[in-house]
Amino acid sequence: TPKKSLGQNFLHDARYIERIVQAIDPRPGDRVVEIGPGQGALTLPLLRRHGALTVIEFDRDLVGPLADMAAPVGQLEIIHRDVLQVDLTALAGGGRIKLAGNLPYNISSPILFHTLDHAAAIRDMVFMLQKEVVDRMGAAPGSKVYGRLSVMLQAYCQVQPLFVVPPGAFRPAPKVDSAVVRLVPRDPATIGIADRDRFAHVVRAAFGQRRKTLRNALRDVCTPEQFEAAGVSADDRAEQVDVAGFVRLANA
Ligand code: SAM
Repeated sequence: TPKKSLGQNFLHDARYIERIVQAIDPRPGDRVVEIGPGQGALTLPLLRRHGALTVIEFDRDLVGPLADMAAPVGQLEIIHRDVLQVDLTALAGGGRIKLAGNLPYNISSPILFHTLDHAAAIRDMVFMLQKEVVDRMGAAPGSKVYGRLSVMLQAYCQVQPLFVVPPGAFRPAPKVDSAVVRLVPRDPATIGIADRDRFAHVVRAAFGQRRKTLRNALRDVCTPEQFEAAGVSADDRAEQVDVAGFVRLANA
């Protein structure tokens, strides 16, 4: 039986499975890593197409069946761990991995932030998430759902929402629509963030009090001189500032 605490909603609609595998699009030589393989809905088609795959699955009860299903199909490496504890940079071994998965929705934001910590070791990612989360990831300044997740994701990655997946494609059906998104990490040289921790801190503080002006929300974080140097108005609220503005403010 699926475990709610592990966000287990298993895909069963073959058309969506095929569309997701096509979006992942593994090419010869790619090192592909799937997060949360579950009962293998994506794992087996990926393995059939690509021959080899690494999966990260936390649920002990799923590991044995996965190994049995995969054995006749291809080479499956199973990492039985919490993905948040997996050093993706080490896993990439000096190269860059392709990450994919129908993520457990209860920890989708922590997983996304974890991938940002390892963005330099990731070629691209194709994830299924709650549609509402994908909307936030891709949102532009001024949008109601533009926030910390939008700024952090867009600072480090190109965000490409792909398509929506209805609840009926899963068992059990989740209560919400889902969506598939591709994230392509940007070249660290072009991002221009001088200090990642400082950037994260400024963005968190700005959106922590999103209805206040930045002058008030960032009272202890940015000086008037820093606003001036960054060309960001302290009278604005966080939702009005674009990603480049936050980068300049954190760098100032
Ligand atoms: N990929 C499968 C599918 O599409 O049918 C399963 C997707 S299900 C939404 C999420 C999967 O992530 C489950 O198999 C669950 O056990 C696993 N999972 C949950 N928390 C995890 C964690 N912290 N680390 C790794 N896997 C996790």
